[in-house]
Amino acid sequence: MAPNNNQSVPPVPILSENRHSGIPANLADKANAAKARVWKNKTFSGITQRQGELPVLPPGIERQKFNAAIDELKQLLGPEHVVINDKPLEDGWYLEHPNTHDAFHLFDPNDTVSSAAVYPGSTEDVVTIVKWANRYEIPLWPISMGRNLGYGGAAPRVRGSIVVDLGKRMNRVLNIDPEQCSCLVEPGVSYYKLYEEVKKSGYPLMIDPPDLGGGSVLGNAIDRGVGYTPMGDHFANHCGLEVVTPTGEVIRTGMGALPGQNGADNPTWQAFQYGYGPYVDGIFSQSNFGIVTKMGMWLMPETESLTFMATFPRDEDFEDIIEIIRGLMVRRIMGNVPQLRHVIQELAVTGKNRKEFYDGQGQMPRDVIRKHASKMTCGDCGWVFYGCLYGTPRAIQESLEVVKSEFSKIPGVRFLFPKDVPEDHYLHSRARVCAGIPEIRELEWLNWKNNGSHLFFSPICPTKREDARRVIDIAIRVHREYGFDLFPTFCIAPREMHLIVNIVYDRSSQDEKRRAIAAIRKMIDECAEAGYGEYRTHILLADQVMHTYSWNGKSLLRFHEQIKDALDPKGILAPGRNGIWPRKYRGQGWELLGKGRETSTPEKSKL
Ligand code: ADP
Repeated sequence: MAPNNNQSVPPVPILSENRHSGIPANLADKANAAKARVWKNKTFSGITQRQGELPVLPPGIERQKFNAAIDELKQLLGPEHVVINDKPLEDGWYLEHPNTHDAFHLFDPNDTVSSAAVYPGSTEDVVTIVKWANRYEIPLWPISMGRNLGYGGAAPRVRGSIVVDLGKRMNRVLNIDPEQCSCLVEPGVSYYKLYEEVKKSGYPLMIDPPDLGGGSVLGNAIDRGVGYTPMGDHFANHCGLEVVTPTGEVIRTGMGALPGQNGADNPTWQAFQYGYGPYVDGIFSQSNFGIVTKMGMWLMPETESLTFMATFPRDEDFEDIIEIIRGLMVRRIMGNVPQLRHVIQELAVTGKNRKEFYDGQGQMPRDVIRKHASKMTCGDCGWVFYGCLYGTPRAIQESLEVVKSEFSKIPGVRFLFPKDVPEDHYLHSRARVCAGIPEIRELEWLNWKNNGSHLFFSPICPTKREDARRVIDIAIRVHREYGFDLFPTFCIAPREMHLIVNIVYDRSSQDEKRRAIAAIRKMIDECAEAGYGEYRTHILLADQVMHTYSWNGKSLLRFHEQIKDALDPKGILAPGRNGIWPRKYRGQGWELLGKGRETSTPEKSKL
């Protein structure tokens, strides 16, 4: 179906109008403008018609049994809280994302679909759902917000799973503690919402948002996402969980396991991470071992910050730049998560379609990037560094002097501060993110292509020259081979770097989707051979990535499987998430281990 680009773009949902997934009113104009740009680049409707009998059923469940089970679930939770997935699949947009399928599909949109969505209103409701799922052996796929775009969005790995959409009704900030600098949140609290609530509280506290503020604070932390302040490692800064296990037990981790006085929550639940005994929080991150219903998170006391960019003229100074950054970071001169990006990203964050820069096929040539960059604020350069310094104004100035003197070892380095760049320059949006103010700017990337979608390739490597070179060379070569522009961002910690490569593709094109998958599969394999593994990946690539963690005959995977089988004997919770399959799915070809089929489901499964 052709889109109607003249049609007015429906306005975005607003947070204060009781839409948990909406945007704060003060960002609405920006969001509407961003959405209008995406609409301009739409050449197809983004709506997929359905085929066959609906809803798609979970494996091994007959329709009659499914219908009876759904009737029971409706009785248990209220019919309005169970919605069957039988309508056309709408890809929507960032703020109106679907919970029915992957909005940035890599296979047919009909492939990774749910059978229904259920909306629990409390931890007790989650227990009810889990017990129901065990009775019928129906797989569940929990999401907090479902905005995990580039990693599978809200889509379940197993077709016909029931999406447990926790965010819609469980979206309260339960506590903000100004002395301990911490908060307790439910799954549906976005960074936008947490920011608003902290502001409303009047406490001098800061949050750590990732690039976009619409994700769930809880979901992002347990998927081990990153932000950019000194508290950028989100999982490391969480403190205490409440979890419903796959058989419907409720546990609290850390100090939460020790009841507070007179039935109150333990006063150190958000203060001390470990409690007593084995530290189990880790097994609830990037796993299918439990549904997290509450999470404690540390906050930062409000502090001054200075965001800056540094441009380096020559591509080939890359290794020297990495060495200098490591030196600054291990000495804690820079204490946040800075980014090193290639100059092509300066073109992409303008939100313009690549055709406005270059209309050729294949990769945009280096001299074309150079020609455009030389007319922009960044000038003709190779690498662009975005950093931020924190503390008192004096401490910031002292650190800045050290940073300047170190970076000056690279010939031609230029420093730019927010006061030096135009109002609409990306540096201002980085400055806000680094100051704890959630943003929407990063979406502009998607306009690079018509029907822009993205897939993240995210390997980890040491913050060292040889490793950085090896990893980037793999990405450069494979992107060239498959005809994609390369958007590398190194998110840098003292000892390791997350290289986040954003593969932007047109999801209306089968060819682009196939090339995107082929390219990422090749990079995963080549990086693994060189000793580098992904920190996170798309649901359809999880098996391949998990199997690269293969030391000692994949003994770690076997350990995960042992835990899975012990905790989830019926195999109902998120089968296949992170490449961990319950016993009843194993050995039947569910794993997607590389080239081959373009469906998530094996041809022959005994389920
Ligand atoms: P966000 O909207 O923050 O980007 P999602 O809600 O999509 O993130 O969560 C990312 C992934 O993490 C989901 O696909 C799901 O597999 C898992 N997940 C999210 N929330 C929970 C939860 N509360 N309990 C268990 N797993 C979760």
